Amino acid sequence: MTIQPDQYAVMGNPIAHSKSPHIHTLFAAQTGQPLEYRAILVEPGGFAPAVRKFREAGGKGLNVTVPFKQDAWVFADLLSVRAERAGAVNTLILEPGGVRGDNTDGMGLVRDLTVNHGYLLAGRRILLLGAGGAARGILQPLLVEKPTQLVVANRTADKALELALRFSDLGRVSGYGFAELAGRQFDLIINATAAGLSDAVPPLPEDVLAPDGWCYDLMYGSEPTAFVRWGLEHGAVQALDGLGMLVEQAAESFHLWRGVWPETKPVIAALRS
Ligand code: NDP
Repeated sequence: MTIQPDQYAVMGNPIAHSKSPHIHTLFAAQTGQPLEYRAILVEPGGFAPAVRKFREAGGKGLNVTVPFKQDAWVFADLLSVRAERAGAVNTLILEPGGVRGDNTDGMGLVRDLTVNHGYLLAGRRILLLGAGGAARGILQPLLVEKPTQLVVANRTADKALELALRFSDLGRVSGYGFAELAGRQFDLIINATAAGLSDAVPPLPEDVLAPDGWCYDLMYGSEPTAFVRWGLEHGAVQALDGLGMLVEQAAESFHLWRGVWPETKPVIAALRS
């Protein structure tokens, strides 16, 4: 008897560039899980009907990307603690009894830094640039690691302040505009802004990265990103891009759906090459 593969997909707009189908297809082959994964372009305002249609056709799970992570948060019947906090969902588990929503972005980042690169987050001074959807998803998992302090800095300072307040019960977190960073130093700077899309870097003081500091850009590309280049120019011991995070957040989703952990290192290596 032939087993019909279970159906999964990523929904977003735009979506043609997404690496998720490739990643999950590699995970499925590696673990022997019978599943198919594709990319679905969803028109603005069309998220909920698109998910219902996919579910009615037997779909088992979805990843959700820009601009629908907040729609997915509203759509889910039940939210994980981290997704509830983030106000954004990147993984939907479509079960007969209802739809569960989770957010695996933050764990993806933390696993890439700590497991793949051996970086200890505890006791560090961390600067998080940006206060958009990605920043919201990574604050809770970062704070769980017990950094000494976490500063959120954003172009629109009020959004950084608001985000810091939202997470202030979890650790020492504060929010500022970029101009207020003068005179401060950090061990790790994480770029979660979209500035890199125009090959730019937020305006940062020259000495904001501590000696022996690390930089991490959520963005990735075939060439070093603007923030990776900035890190290298400012003495970073390591300046990493977000490809590892992308694969790690996918592995978390895969585990939520299938109960199996794929190996991520060979997949990261395959995507790099
Ligand atoms: P959002 O649109 O939700 O947020 C964008 C953020 O970037 C805001 O804080 C915005 O500031 C800031 N910003 C935009 N342009 C500039 C600029 N020119 N200078 C300074 N700040 C700027 O995007 P997301 O949070 O969803 O995504 C952010 C980045 O993270 C993207 O590059 C995305 O590709 C990447 N990402 C990577 C993932 C991975 O797995 N590697 C996962 C998720 C995201 P303001 O509030 O002032 O508008």
